[in-house]
Amino acid sequence: MNLVLFGPPGAGKGTQARILTEKRGWPQLSTGDMLRAAVKAGSTLGKKVEALLTKGELVPDEIVIDIIAERYDRPDCAKGAVFDGFPRTIPQAEALDAMLAARAKKIDLVLELKVDDAVLLQRVEQRIKEGGILRSDDTPETLAHRLDVYYSNTAPLLDYYGRQGKIVTVDGMAPIADVTRAIAAALDAKR
Ligand code: ADP
Repeated sequence: MNLVLFGPPGAGKGTQARILTEKRGWPQLSTGDMLRAAVKAGSTLGKKVEALLTKGELVPDEIVIDIIAERYDRPDCAKGAVFDGFPRTIPQAEALDAMLAARAKKIDLVLELKVDDAVLLQRVEQRIKEGGILRSDDTPETLAHRLDVYYSNTAPLLDYYGRQGKIVTVDGMAPIADVTRAIAAALDAKR
C-alpha cells in the first residue's frame, strides 16, 4: 500500500510514519529527513537547500521529485511506502502520480492529520522548552512562515486528492495512540 501522510508542519506525520514502518514494514519516505541528511552531510544538494530549509521555504519541485523517485526504486518499497512531507505542491503530486503509474502503482490512501494552528504553535514552544532549538526551522517565527507556505502551496492538494476520493481525515490533536488507532482503522477499512 502506498500512503501519503498529509498535514501542516508539526502535525505528527513523522511520528505516525515511523509507527507504520515498524508495524507494517512500509518504509517512511520523508523528504524533510532526506534534505536534512543532505545538509548534514555537506553534499552539493545539501549546500543548495540549506538556506531554504532554515527559512521554511520549499525546495524546488525537481529536487524533491528526483530524490523521491530514487528512493522509491529501492527494493524495500516494493510492497509500498509511506510518503511523509511529500507531495507538498500540485506539480509534486502530479509527478508522484506519473511516477507510480509508470511502475503500475498508485497512491492508495491519503491520511490527513488535522491540527489547529494554535496547537501547532504550542507544540513548537513545548519542543523548545524541552530540548532547545534542535532544527533551524523549528522556531515560532519560522513556523508561522511554514504555515503560510502550507496554506498557499500544500493545502490545495486536499482538493486534488479529494477529487480522487482518496482522503481520510484523522484528528491529529488526539493522543498519539488514538491517532495511530484511527489510522489503523482507516487502513483496515481499505484492505
Ligand atoms: P515539517 O513537516 O515539520 O514542516 P519537513 O521535515 O517535512 O517538516 O520539511 C522541512 C523543510 O524541508 C521544509 O520546510 C522545506 O524547506 C523542505 N521540504 C521538505 N519536503 C519538501 C517538499 N516535498 N517540497 C519542497 N520542500 C520540501
